[in-house]
Amino acid sequence: MRRLLLVLAFTFVVSCSQQTSPSFDEQAAIDTLRILSADDMQGRQTGTDGNAKARAYLLERIAALDVDEVGQTHEHMFKFMREVEEEPAVEVTGTNLLFRINGTADTGKTIVVSAHYDHVGVNDGKVFNGADDNASGVAGVLAIAESFKNNPPKNDIIFALFDAEEMGLQGARAFVRNLELIDPNISFNVNFDMLSRSDKNELYVAGVFHRPYLKPVIEGIAAKVPTKLLMGHDDPELGINDWTQASDQGPFHNADIPFLYFGVEDHPHYHQPSDEFESVPVEFFIRSLKTVVTAVHAVDEQLTGFSL
Ligand SMILES: [Zn+2]
Repeated sequence: MRRLLLVLAFTFVVSCSQQTSPSFDEQAAIDTLRILSADDMQGRQTGTDGNAKARAYLLERIAALDVDEVGQTHEHMFKFMREVEEEPAVEVTGTNLLFRINGTADTGKTIVVSAHYDHVGVNDGKVFNGADDNASGVAGVLAIAESFKNNPPKNDIIFALFDAEEMGLQGARAFVRNLELIDPNISFNVNFDMLSRSDKNELYVAGVFHRPYLKPVIEGIAAKVPTKLLMGHDDPELGINDWTQASDQGPFHNADIPFLYFGVEDHPHYHQPSDEFESVPVEFFIRSLKTVVTAVHAVDEQLTGFSL
């Protein structure tokens, strides 16, 4: 009897670990980070040749994933007026890159998994490479897409690589303006911005303040991931330390769509030329990606039970 129990326990552990450790190619994720933050991408500022080069690279990666288009294309252009200090506003065109993997269960719900691929370009002759901000988040989205290709989601998932976040969350705003057209079932956003730098092995997750029912979901994820996962940065009383509007989750929140945002605490490389691949702690970056891959699989598993 005891032996049988042990066997059962063992089987349970094995099947659990298979479910909770969806895989991705770690070297491909490191390559994504290195390539997107290389000098020839010129800091990926919206409207520049470097941004177009990053987009061309990402379209190759999306093609290799063999995933569906959204509205018959991966490239979704939008226009906005940009004001820089005293200058007259100029019209800028940005391009969001979207793709989808449809779910195996007929849940009628779609999750948007997002990260911005633009950064702030070249200033005073220095390339701002934006390795952490936000080549790291883009690598996270691609790793998650790869993990769902091998292990299909229950819900439909739209993967969004947003443009013009650094010019005021413009890509996410354009996406949310067209939400009904893109997919009327969109019910949840998981956004990543800055996943690769922490001396303390810490990753923050914001959004639980607004939707307290997410707390046990995050506690469940925190118990099985290799980074310390801290809830916070989402209470309006925190002032500038409330990150609700600090990245592309903001427009989703304003449209009453629940979100989870994952990112590291502010650090000295933030919006500096030193935010480059060579200074990224690669071991933490991989642990961080394992954390967000596990998190999105858990959200997908549990979404139908959320009181949205
Ligand atoms: Zn960013």
